[in-house]
Amino acid sequence: MITDEILAKYDMTIGIECHVQLATKTKLFSGADNDARDKSPNSVVSPIDFALPGMLPVLNRGAVDLAIKAGKALNSSIAHVSRFDRKHYFYPDLPKGYQTTQMYQPIIGVGVVHVPMEDGSIVDVRIHHAHLEEDAGKLIHNGNYSLVDLNRAGTPLIEIVSEPDIHSSAAAKAYASELYRLMTYAGVTNGDLYHGNMRFDVNVSVALKGADKLGLRAEVKNLNSFRSVERAAEYEFRRQIEIVEGGNQVIQETRGWDEAKQKTSSQRSKEDAQDYRYMPDADIPPIVLTDSEIAEIQATVPRLPGQWRFILRQLGLEYLPIETLLDAENEFRGQINILKMIEDVVSDTKKAKFIANWTVNNFITLLRGEPTFKIGSIDYLALEVAIYELTDANKLSSTNAKILFRELAVMETLPDVEKYATDKGYIQVSDEGSIAVIVDEVLADPLSAKAVEDLKNGNDKVIGFLVGQVMKKSGGKANPALVQKLIRERI
Ligand code: MN
Repeated sequence: MITDEILAKYDMTIGIECHVQLATKTKLFSGADNDARDKSPNSVVSPIDFALPGMLPVLNRGAVDLAIKAGKALNSSIAHVSRFDRKHYFYPDLPKGYQTTQMYQPIIGVGVVHVPMEDGSIVDVRIHHAHLEEDAGKLIHNGNYSLVDLNRAGTPLIEIVSEPDIHSSAAAKAYASELYRLMTYAGVTNGDLYHGNMRFDVNVSVALKGADKLGLRAEVKNLNSFRSVERAAEYEFRRQIEIVEGGNQVIQETRGWDEAKQKTSSQRSKEDAQDYRYMPDADIPPIVLTDSEIAEIQATVPRLPGQWRFILRQLGLEYLPIETLLDAENEFRGQINILKMIEDVVSDTKKAKFIANWTVNNFITLLRGEPTFKIGSIDYLALEVAIYELTDANKLSSTNAKILFRELAVMETLPDVEKYATDKGYIQVSDEGSIAVIVDEVLADPLSAKAVEDLKNGNDKVIGFLVGQVMKKSGGKANPALVQKLIRERI
């Protein structure tokens, strides 16, 4: 039994390798369609992808551009010269007999990812390098035989290799999801996790706190969700501590994650570690890039999550609403540009803060919470701004603002918001004269006598009762803040 006390004796060290599928139209070295989703097996394959003798690969420039963009998102330098190598191994999903990858001169150099944690701290994860490579095909196992589908063979990937800078399962999850945000915001990948657009290999080792040497690591391969990254790391931490506490040694091995059992299990040990016989790929010329070329491509990268966080923090938003906005940007990409709504009003801090908060608390809640709600053609920013202006002018209570937003958000065309709110009776009365009349009536009412007496004697709580009476008499239209002010003036 591993108690919390035993867990506290150990440190966990994690490094993560992540394969990112690039959002190119065609494959890395052939003109075959790069989108294999919902395609029948072996229907998007060119002879280059399975290395028919005599084929000659031609590097897809689009993949190079996306790698250059990825480099910016990773705060990395881009190599002026990078090259491809052949990594030899035999497996039925790789008829070439080698994977074309970058072993010795990768395109993306040392970098760093600043990973924000929920408690406000930042975990800096250094990037060792990232390289371009092609994906292999896949095997479909069927009883006592297997089928080969090469649709994915030759798909361009970048593999991002981190330093072992992660020391908790929560940070592993946060790093994985930050990589996802970086790669999607930079336009490097479509980010379809269900179809394996990003796959994480998590290397975990444990050591007694203060030990100067790390334990041997186990690598959990091919995780495709942030949650499974976290759970697999946590599982490995406990499994390895149990081994060490039992007086044994962790063996270096590759393990798989069983989603149903929430467990890792051994796939192969270090003993069958392969010699890949790396060698330069003579068919593919080196990638040569100039500084100005790199700068030109990187200038097209839109604002990245870190820059957005800075802007949103300046507006006074906290961790959770900020992350909600950043995730919603991805979630509704192609339907609506959530962050652009804020960007369009960002020069007016007060308005931008309102729009940001309103978007989190009302719009995103509506988008996520109501399955029947469909984003229509109305200008949602115009609607939010109209609500901001009415609220700011004290013409709309927060309750009525919410009701108004929900009614208008589902409309096909946006009416004049103030006229609509007036017609529906949502506009509150902030005219002192007319509210004062009602306040005087309420204070003179014998029903209020006790409350008035109590308030005079310093029992401040009863003011709520008096405000309530005025609100009732006004048909809910009086501005409660103004009502309160007028009552206090009179007592
Ligand atoms: Mn790889």
